[in-house]
Amino acid sequence: MTNPTVENLVIIGSGPAGYTAAIYAGRANLKPVVFEGFQAGGLPGGQLMTTTEVENFPGFPQGITGPELMDRMKAQAERWGAELYTEDVISVDLSQRPFTVRSEEREVKTNSIIIATGATAKRLGLPSEHEFWSRGISACAICDGATPIFHGAELAVIGAGDSAAEESIYLTKYGSKVNLLVRSDKMRASKAMQDRILSNPKIQVHWNTEAVDIFGNGHMDGVKIRNTKTGEESTIHAKGLFYAIGHNPNTSLFKGQLELDEVGYIVTKHGSPETSVEGVFAAGDVQDHEYRQAITAAGSGCMSAMLAERWLSVTGLIQEFHQQPETPVNELEHQPAANKTEAEQEAEFNLNATRHEGGYALRKLFHESDRLLLVKYVSPGCGPCHTLKPILNKVVDEFDGKIHFVEIDIDKDRDIAENAGVTGTPTIQVFKNKELLKEVKGVKQKSEYRQLIENSL
Ligand SMILES: Cc1cc2nc3c(=O)[nH]c(=O)nc-3n(C[C@H](O)[C@H](O)[C@H](O)COP(=O)(O)OP(=O)(O)OC[C@H]3O[C@@H](n4cnc5c(N)ncnc54)[C@H](O)[C@@H]3O)c2cc1C
Repeated sequence: MTNPTVENLVIIGSGPAGYTAAIYAGRANLKPVVFEGFQAGGLPGGQLMTTTEVENFPGFPQGITGPELMDRMKAQAERWGAELYTEDVISVDLSQRPFTVRSEEREVKTNSIIIATGATAKRLGLPSEHEFWSRGISACAICDGATPIFHGAELAVIGAGDSAAEESIYLTKYGSKVNLLVRSDKMRASKAMQDRILSNPKIQVHWNTEAVDIFGNGHMDGVKIRNTKTGEESTIHAKGLFYAIGHNPNTSLFKGQLELDEVGYIVTKHGSPETSVEGVFAAGDVQDHEYRQAITAAGSGCMSAMLAERWLSVTGLIQEFHQQPETPVNELEHQPAANKTEAEQEAEFNLNATRHEGGYALRKLFHESDRLLLVKYVSPGCGPCHTLKPILNKVVDEFDGKIHFVEIDIDKDRDIAENAGVTGTPTIQVFKNKELLKEVKGVKQKSEYRQLIENSL
């Protein structure tokens, strides 16, 4: 018997690999502990939180959005008893058994580990990149493409693979023209994607072209580019620049503790998720530089969980937790309400309610209520908005009756987002007495939102 405070299995990461491992380990009565991640190495839910349609995951003949697919995997992992923490792992000690896994909030001892930390979007490191990050530059077209400043504007995308192609096509919904900057004279994207790019009249491919820097005044106005063959420099006037230049494996936690290859991928045994340390397994993109697909990540997550269970049994370390599957408490987030007419919104509006939605409510509350007003700007398909929803909902519940909380879909209420100067989603703005007190971009810890409200009340 093992010490009850030592876990059977810790899974690090919540992409398709991590959640699939959690489903299998949960069903094997291992009660796995999952560190879903928070900001290190991408979003909880992984890379698919930044995509729209996933057309090739089996079982969804009509396709499914990335965030919805990941919500479903998460709900399934929870149903089978996985214990989830939306926290980054900050250190791992594999030198002693049981192993130790630490986040800012807790330290967990465990007999086995599945690493499913995936990969992170690369940055270019241009001289003015920092200055214009979130002021025009973005690594997620799906999250930020609907921002009002990009509507009808010229945009640019850097990259040559499937992501660059997908992002360029997506951005044609919003921009007047999309410039795709490709460093060489060919693309790595699939043939089908290339055909879609080359036949799209709103996309111009700039072959043999690299970005040199960004220019602008507060917000970016354009990109300085260079022809890689002739060295000739010129400019593209674009309000937005979207990076789609690939990913680095998230393995810094394991350097010196596990065998990694020269790029940083975890080395696993041929055809198996076993790593150089017994009891530690690696699944998904963190060990795969060849396939890098949701289904292959899920497959290796499954293999890891099965091998972890086998290894715990053989070593006599296993501790089973018999359980009934929990009835799913519909974890799937509600999609924003369907378009309602102004008259319908007026009829439904209640000045005393805490939660509201849409421009009508925001205007009424802004002018007629003296409560603190928290406005959340989201956009359709935005993965980080999905991540933020449960975090912020819990905090808003704590202040029920003391504040107003309004959700604005910037695609539907474009004029409001524009007037508010919103340059990406999710964004939170806090107003008191018609004055903007604070703006917070991206996804933060619950404690940060709590403190923001407390300090503003
Ligand atoms: C724009 C885009 C579109 C794509 N479209 C498709 C598609 O249509 N079909 C398809 O099959 N594949 C697609 N892919 C590829 C697919 O998303 C990946 O292959 C897959 O997500 C890999 O899964 P994973 O579980 O290995 O890692 P990831 O999805 O990268 O997840 C990694 C997880 O690890 C967590 N993490 C990282 N560091 C830490 C830490 N220190 N502590 C705790 N957690 C941590 C992250 O928060 C994240 O949850 C797409 C990828 C992109 C970027």
